[in-house]
Amino acid sequence: MIPLSVPDISGNEKKYIQECLETGWVSSAGPFVTKFENMVKDFVGTKHGIAVSSGTAALHLSLIAAGVTDEDEVIVPTLTFIAAVNVIRYCRAEPVFMDCDNNTLGIDVEKIHEFIKSQCIQKADGFTYNKKTGRRIKAVIPVHIFGHPIDLDPLIDICQNYNIVMIEDSTESMGSEYKNKRTGSFGDIGCFSFNGNKIITTGGGGMIVTDNDTYAKKLRHLSTQAKLDGVEYDHDEVGYNYRLNNLQAAMGVAQMEKLDQYLACKRRNAQIYRDLLSAQEQIKFFWEMPWARSNFWFYTIQVQSHLKNTLLEHLIREGIQARPVWKLIHTLPMYHTCQTYKIDNAKRIYDSCINLPCSVNLTVKEIKEVTDKIEKAFCEEFV
Ligand SMILES: *Cc1c(COP(=O)(O)O)cnc(C)c1O
Repeated sequence: MIPLSVPDISGNEKKYIQECLETGWVSSAGPFVTKFENMVKDFVGTKHGIAVSSGTAALHLSLIAAGVTDEDEVIVPTLTFIAAVNVIRYCRAEPVFMDCDNNTLGIDVEKIHEFIKSQCIQKADGFTYNKKTGRRIKAVIPVHIFGHPIDLDPLIDICQNYNIVMIEDSTESMGSEYKNKRTGSFGDIGCFSFNGNKIITTGGGGMIVTDNDTYAKKLRHLSTQAKLDGVEYDHDEVGYNYRLNNLQAAMGVAQMEKLDQYLACKRRNAQIYRDLLSAQEQIKFFWEMPWARSNFWFYTIQVQSHLKNTLLEHLIREGIQARPVWKLIHTLPMYHTCQTYKIDNAKRIYDSCINLPCSVNLTVKEIKEVTDKIEKAFCEEFV
């Protein structure tokens, strides 16, 4: 079987974790936590890095720090992993679902602009409100889907003009660049995940990055039960136990040491997939926009929608762990009554796209096997 995405654990992971066990630093404080935070923030190019227990925790705290409450709405893509939407509900706010762009697969920035111009009003306080619901559009969560950056410049303009906070969900795009600057560093706050299927992993974990001192202080405070400094158990707001522990951070440090190698491997493999699939005219292999450098976290192909399920089933039967893209979140039962704005590209993408195996240690031989099986499917199933 060729799995969709499994971690590579061949560096200093054991050595560093052993160090934690021997020194007794196994919990939420310890030298590896700070070291890991510094490595990630330096890599991304931000002033602060706050390690947390998951990417979901990173997004949740970011929304709280941005002040998102039950009186607000948050713009989010319908084509995304669900965590970016669930955190909106954790804050009792409402999502507004947006379409995706056909090239980046990320949120359709033009449609966000259209939505704000036609459905919202900017009041004297400078903030932007949804005309229909009266709620404030407080934040937007762009997600760099499958590692490819969205077109950030126009979104930054929108956020500045309409006073909207940008929480950048970079959980899939560690190492990707938009116009030579790394994703995660563009939003007011950026979020990363180190879940087992991400480009680097700590088993489970996340990181929040920002240049903003006030946000950084608040985020760290919230992640540690909002405990005030001092001997007393004194807390000044409702906090969370969202810290990353030293064992996980030790693994993170070892993985960070190999990130450049993983990125090179992902990009090389993308090229090989593209070359091997280029003869098959019925397949589109998603590639980078001219202003982007993708980490190619997930490789995505598009076929005619009537072929998708047959191809997917064929590959799975042949031991290739291909996967459909996420079901559109606005179609799921807990979100199907929420606001949507002109979603049509995302429907076509869901109907026609498949993700292919993409582990950071995927070999050329394995890629060849995947593309051979795809060709076999076209020969046997689609004659
Ligand atoms: C992986 C992922 C997350 C959440 O990360 P966890 O660490 O699993 O909580 C959030 N958003 C997106 C888009 C993701 O792919």
